[in-house]
Amino acid sequence: MFPRTLSDYQFIIDNQKETIAAQEKIITTQRNTLTDCQSTITRQADLIKALKEDAMALALNTEEWNEDLGASMCPYCRENDENKEKINHTSTCPITIHAELMKDVEG
Ligand SMILES: [Zn+2]
Repeated sequence: MFPRTLSDYQFIIDNQKETIAAQEKIITTQRNTLTDCQSTITRQADLIKALKEDAMALALNTEEWNEDLGASMCPYCRENDENKEKINHTSTCPITIHAELMKDVEG
């Protein structure tokens, strides 16, 4: 049915104004949600950066000298570098786990 009177048109306009107002509320809610998500992402990125720096600092202490073996030894998995150029940490060693995690973090 087509609008016939000015009142019909006013009714349509009022309905459209209500629809627009409802859509503006939805958009405002979505913008607030987006802002919250961006804040969360920023906080988490900062946290990942701090954890990465902390883990790197901890991972620097990967060797200790063992007098009995005459070789450097990992303080965590106890692997040593006797006759090797570097320590081959075990798969469960925190150094190995850290290295694998860093591969994931850095893509
Ligand atoms: Zn180790």
